[in-house]
Amino acid sequence: MIEVQNLHKSFGAQKVLRGIDLRLDKGKVLVIIGPSGSGKTTLLRCFNLLEQPDIGTLRVGEIVLDFKEGFKPKQEQILKLRKQSGMVFQAYHLFPHMTAAGNVMEGLITVQKKNKAEARRVSLELLERVGLGNKADSYPHMLSGGQQQRVGIARAMAVNPEVLLFDEPTSALDPELVGEVLRVMKSLASSGMTMIVVTHEMKFAAEVADRIILMDSGRIIEEGSPQEVFQNPKSPRAAQFLNILT
Ligand code: ADP
Repeated sequence: MIEVQNLHKSFGAQKVLRGIDLRLDKGKVLVIIGPSGSGKTTLLRCFNLLEQPDIGTLRVGEIVLDFKEGFKPKQEQILKLRKQSGMVFQAYHLFPHMTAAGNVMEGLITVQKKNKAEARRVSLELLERVGLGNKADSYPHMLSGGQQQRVGIARAMAVNPEVLLFDEPTSALDPELVGEVLRVMKSLASSGMTMIVVTHEMKFAAEVADRIILMDSGRIIEEGSPQEVFQNPKSPRAAQFLNILT
Protein backbone atom coordinates (compact mmCIF):
# COMPACT_ATOMS: atom_id res chain seq x y z
CA MET A 1 0.00 0.00 0.00
CA ILE A 2 2.69 2.46 1.10
CA GLU A 3 6.36 1.85 0.75
CA VAL A 4 9.50 3.96 0.88
CA GLN A 5 12.97 2.79 0.12
CA ASN A 6 16.20 4.56 0.91
CA LEU A 7 14.55 7.97 1.28
CA HIS A 8 16.88 10.93 1.71
CA LYS A 9 16.05 14.60 2.18
CA SER A 10 18.24 17.57 3.00
CA PHE A 11 17.44 21.20 3.64
CA GLY A 12 20.57 22.94 2.38
CA ALA A 13 23.50 21.26 4.08
CA GLN A 14 21.32 19.72 6.81
CA LYS A 15 20.53 16.06 6.23
CA VAL A 16 17.06 15.56 7.69
CA LEU A 17 16.21 12.07 6.35
CA ARG A 18 19.13 9.66 5.94
CA GLY A 19 17.88 6.52 4.27
CA ILE A 20 14.39 5.64 5.46
CA ASP A 21 12.87 2.27 4.55
CA LEU A 22 9.39 1.29 5.56
CA ARG A 23 6.20 -0.31 4.34
CA LEU A 24 2.65 -0.26 5.54
CA ASP A 25 -0.17 -2.55 4.47
CA LYS A 26 -3.72 -1.45 3.78
CA GLY A 27 -5.87 -1.02 6.88
CA LYS A 28 -2.90 -0.74 9.23
CA VAL A 29 -1.83 2.08 11.53
CA LEU A 30 1.77 3.25 11.66
CA VAL A 31 2.80 5.60 14.45
CA ILE A 32 6.00 7.63 14.12
CA ILE A 33 7.64 8.77 17.35
CA GLY A 34 10.98 10.33 18.19
CA PRO A 35 12.65 13.41 19.60
CA SER A 36 11.93 16.85 18.24
CA GLY A 37 13.90 17.58 15.07
CA SER A 38 14.41 13.89 14.21
CA GLY A 39 12.63 14.26 10.85
CA LYS A 40 9.16 12.87 11.64
CA THR A 41 7.17 15.69 10.07
CA THR A 42 9.45 15.87 7.06
CA LEU A 43 8.96 12.14 6.43
CA LEU A 44 5.19 12.50 6.75
CA ARG A 45 5.18 15.45 4.34
CA CYS A 46 7.15 13.39 1.79
CA PHE A 47 4.21 10.96 1.55
CA ASN A 48 2.07 13.56 -0.19
CA LEU A 49 4.95 15.57 -1.66
CA LEU A 50 4.51 18.63 0.52
CA GLU A 51 8.26 17.94 0.69
CA GLN A 52 10.03 16.38 -2.26
CA PRO A 53 12.57 13.68 -1.38
CA ASP A 54 16.06 14.08 -2.89
CA ILE A 55 16.68 10.37 -3.33
CA GLY A 56 14.60 7.24 -2.85
CA THR A 57 11.53 5.40 -4.01
CA LEU A 58 8.06 6.33 -2.83
CA ARG A 59 5.02 4.19 -3.50
CA VAL A 60 1.51 5.18 -2.48
CA GLY A 61 -1.12 2.82 -3.88
CA GLU A 62 -0.51 2.51 -7.60
CA ILE A 63 1.81 5.47 -7.85
CA VAL A 64 5.53 4.81 -7.74
CA LEU A 65 8.05 7.65 -7.93
CA ASP A 66 11.77 7.14 -8.14
CA PHE A 67 13.58 10.22 -6.88
CA LYS A 68 17.12 11.00 -7.99
CA GLU A 69 19.05 14.08 -8.94
CA GLY A 70 17.23 16.07 -11.59
CA PHE A 71 13.94 14.16 -11.21
CA LYS A 72 10.83 16.26 -10.85
CA PRO A 73 7.45 14.56 -10.60
CA LYS A 74 4.89 15.72 -13.14
CA GLN A 75 2.05 17.90 -11.87
CA GLU A 76 -0.47 15.15 -12.65
CA GLN A 77 1.56 12.64 -10.61
CA ILE A 78 1.60 15.06 -7.67
CA LEU A 79 -2.15 15.59 -7.91
CA LYS A 80 -2.84 11.87 -8.22
CA LEU A 81 -0.70 11.16 -5.18
CA ARG A 82 -2.37 13.90 -3.15
CA LYS A 83 -5.81 12.52 -4.00
CA GLN A 84 -4.76 9.29 -2.32
CA SER A 85 -3.78 10.87 0.96
CA GLY A 86 -5.60 13.19 3.34
CA MET A 87 -3.47 15.28 5.68
CA VAL A 88 -4.49 16.38 9.17
CA PHE A 89 -2.27 19.19 10.42
CA GLN A 90 -1.26 20.27 13.90
CA ALA A 91 -3.09 23.58 13.52
CA TYR A 92 -6.30 22.84 11.70
CA HIS A 93 -6.32 25.82 9.31
CA LEU A 94 -10.05 25.81 8.75
CA PHE A 95 -11.46 28.57 6.54
CA PRO A 96 -12.88 30.99 9.16
CA HIS A 97 -15.63 32.34 6.89
CA MET A 98 -17.00 28.86 6.13
CA THR A 99 -19.14 26.63 8.34
CA ALA A 100 -17.95 23.17 9.43
CA ALA A 101 -19.89 21.65 6.51
CA GLY A 102 -18.51 24.31 4.15
CA ASN A 103 -14.95 23.44 5.14
CA VAL A 104 -15.54 19.75 4.46
CA MET A 105 -17.41 20.46 1.20
CA GLU A 106 -14.52 22.46 -0.25
CA GLY A 107 -12.46 19.41 -1.26
CA LEU A 108 -15.53 17.55 -2.43
CA ILE A 109 -16.38 20.36 -4.84
CA THR A 110 -12.87 21.32 -6.03
CA VAL A 111 -11.11 17.93 -6.01
CA GLN A 112 -13.94 15.43 -6.35
CA LYS A 113 -16.00 17.68 -8.64
CA LYS A 114 -19.21 16.86 -6.80
CA ASN A 115 -22.19 19.21 -7.12
CA LYS A 116 -23.15 21.26 -4.10
CA ALA A 117 -26.07 19.12 -2.95
CA GLU A 118 -24.04 15.92 -3.15
CA ALA A 119 -21.06 17.60 -1.43
CA ARG A 120 -23.34 18.75 1.38
CA ARG A 121 -24.77 15.24 1.81
CA VAL A 122 -21.30 13.65 2.00
CA SER A 123 -19.99 16.38 4.33
CA LEU A 124 -22.86 15.74 6.76
CA GLU A 125 -22.04 12.03 6.72
CA LEU A 126 -18.38 12.76 7.44
CA LEU A 127 -19.20 15.19 10.24
CA GLU A 128 -21.49 12.55 11.71
CA ARG A 129 -18.54 10.12 11.68
CA VAL A 130 -16.42 12.48 13.75
CA GLY A 131 -19.30 13.13 16.16
CA LEU A 132 -20.19 16.59 14.86
CA GLY A 133 -23.44 15.95 13.01
CA ASN A 134 -25.06 18.71 15.07
CA LYS A 135 -22.34 21.30 14.32
CA ALA A 136 -22.51 21.31 10.52
CA ASP A 137 -23.61 24.92 10.34
CA SER A 138 -21.31 26.28 13.05
CA TYR A 139 -18.40 28.51 12.10
CA PRO A 140 -14.91 27.62 13.37
CA HIS A 141 -14.88 30.39 16.02
CA MET A 142 -17.99 28.78 17.57
CA LEU A 143 -16.19 25.43 17.96
CA SER A 144 -13.66 24.26 20.54
CA GLY A 145 -10.14 23.34 19.41
CA GLY A 146 -11.02 19.65 19.65
CA GLN A 147 -14.12 20.14 17.54
CA GLN A 148 -12.18 22.15 14.98
CA GLN A 149 -9.61 19.38 14.73
CA ARG A 150 -12.40 16.85 14.23
CA VAL A 151 -13.66 19.02 11.34
CA GLY A 152 -10.04 18.91 10.09
CA ILE A 153 -10.22 15.11 10.13
CA ALA A 154 -13.57 15.08 8.31
CA ARG A 155 -12.08 17.44 5.72
CA ALA A 156 -9.07 15.18 5.20
CA MET A 157 -11.41 12.23 4.69
CA ALA A 158 -13.47 14.12 2.13
CA VAL A 159 -11.22 13.22 -0.79
CA ASN A 160 -11.86 9.56 0.06
CA PRO A 161 -8.16 8.93 0.58
CA GLU A 162 -6.37 5.59 0.66
CA VAL A 163 -4.39 6.81 3.65
CA LEU A 164 -4.80 9.49 6.31
CA LEU A 165 -1.64 11.32 7.42
CA PHE A 166 -1.70 12.97 10.87
CA ASP A 167 0.97 15.48 11.88
CA GLU A 168 0.84 15.83 15.68
CA PRO A 169 -2.93 16.29 15.53
CA THR A 170 -3.38 16.91 19.25
CA SER A 171 -0.29 18.88 20.17
CA ALA A 172 -1.94 22.30 19.77
CA LEU A 173 -4.91 21.33 21.94
CA ASP A 174 -5.63 21.98 25.59
CA PRO A 175 -5.14 18.70 27.49
CA GLU A 176 -8.85 18.24 28.18
CA LEU A 177 -9.60 18.32 24.44
CA VAL A 178 -7.03 15.73 23.39
CA GLY A 179 -9.17 12.71 24.30
CA GLU A 180 -12.06 13.48 21.94
CA VAL A 181 -9.70 13.74 18.95
CA LEU A 182 -7.86 10.55 19.85
CA ARG A 183 -11.20 8.75 20.23
CA VAL A 184 -12.18 9.75 16.68
CA MET A 185 -8.80 8.57 15.39
CA LYS A 186 -9.21 5.29 17.24
CA SER A 187 -12.62 4.69 15.71
CA LEU A 188 -11.25 5.42 12.23
CA ALA A 189 -8.44 2.95 12.85
CA SER A 190 -10.87 0.25 13.92
CA SER A 191 -13.01 0.92 10.84
CA GLY A 192 -10.03 -0.17 8.73
CA MET A 193 -8.60 3.20 7.66
CA THR A 194 -4.92 3.13 6.76
CA MET A 195 -3.21 5.75 8.90
CA ILE A 196 0.23 7.22 9.51
CA VAL A 197 0.38 9.27 12.70
CA VAL A 198 3.18 11.45 14.05
CA THR A 199 2.45 11.89 17.75
CA HIS A 200 3.83 12.18 21.25
CA GLU A 201 0.76 10.42 22.68
CA MET A 202 2.39 7.19 23.79
CA LYS A 203 -0.75 5.65 25.26
CA PHE A 204 -2.53 6.14 21.94
CA ALA A 205 0.48 4.68 20.11
CA ALA A 206 0.52 1.64 22.38
CA GLU A 207 -3.21 1.03 21.96
CA VAL A 208 -3.80 1.81 18.30
CA ALA A 209 -0.56 1.27 16.35
CA ASP A 210 0.05 -1.91 14.41
CA ARG A 211 3.63 -0.76 13.95
CA ILE A 212 5.72 1.91 15.58
CA ILE A 213 8.87 3.49 14.23
CA LEU A 214 11.15 5.53 16.41
CA MET A 215 13.26 8.08 14.56
CA ASP A 216 16.43 9.80 15.64
CA SER A 217 18.57 12.16 13.53
CA GLY A 218 16.85 11.21 10.28
CA ARG A 219 17.04 7.45 10.74
CA ILE A 220 14.73 4.76 12.03
CA ILE A 221 16.45 3.45 15.15
CA GLU A 222 13.71 1.13 16.37
CA GLU A 223 10.71 -0.46 14.76
CA GLY A 224 8.17 -3.11 15.56
CA SER A 225 4.89 -3.75 17.33
CA PRO A 226 4.11 -1.44 20.28
CA GLN A 227 5.04 -4.30 22.57
CA GLU A 228 8.43 -4.79 20.91
CA VAL A 229 9.27 -1.10 20.85
CA PHE A 230 8.01 -0.10 24.29
CA GLN A 231 8.89 -3.16 26.29
CA ASN A 232 12.00 -4.39 24.62
CA PRO A 233 13.83 -1.63 22.74
CA LYS A 234 16.99 -2.93 21.13
CA SER A 235 19.16 0.18 21.09
CA PRO A 236 20.33 2.19 24.13
CA ARG A 237 19.26 5.44 22.41
CA ALA A 238 15.69 4.16 21.99
CA ALA A 239 15.59 2.96 25.59
CA GLN A 240 16.80 6.37 26.73
CA PHE A 241 14.14 8.21 24.69
CA LEU A 242 11.35 5.93 25.88
CA ASN A 243 12.53 6.22 29.49
CA ILE A 244 12.22 9.98 29.39
CA LEU A 245 8.61 9.63 28.34
CA THR A 246 7.51 7.18 30.97
P1 ADP B 1 10.29 16.55 13.82
O1 ADP B 1 8.96 16.46 13.17
O2 ADP B 1 10.85 15.21 14.21
O3 ADP B 1 10.33 17.51 14.97
P2 ADP B 1 11.08 17.92 11.42
O4 ADP B 1 10.90 16.97 10.28
O5 ADP B 1 10.03 18.95 11.63
O6 ADP B 1 11.34 17.10 12.76
O7 ADP B 1 12.45 18.69 11.25
C1 ADP B 1 13.70 18.06 11.11
C2 ADP B 1 14.75 19.11 10.86
O8 ADP B 1 14.57 19.69 9.59
C3 ADP B 1 14.74 20.23 11.88
O9 ADP B 1 16.06 20.56 12.20
C4 ADP B 1 14.06 21.36 11.13
O10 ADP B 1 14.53 22.59 11.58
C5 ADP B 1 14.49 21.10 9.70
N1 ADP B 1 13.47 21.57 8.73
C6 ADP B 1 12.20 21.11 8.63
N2 ADP B 1 11.55 21.72 7.62
C7 ADP B 1 12.42 22.60 7.07
C8 ADP B 1 12.36 23.54 5.98
N3 ADP B 1 11.24 23.68 5.24
N4 ADP B 1 13.46 24.26 5.71
C9 ADP B 1 14.60 24.12 6.44
N5 ADP B 1 14.73 23.24 7.47
C10 ADP B 1 13.67 22.50 7.79
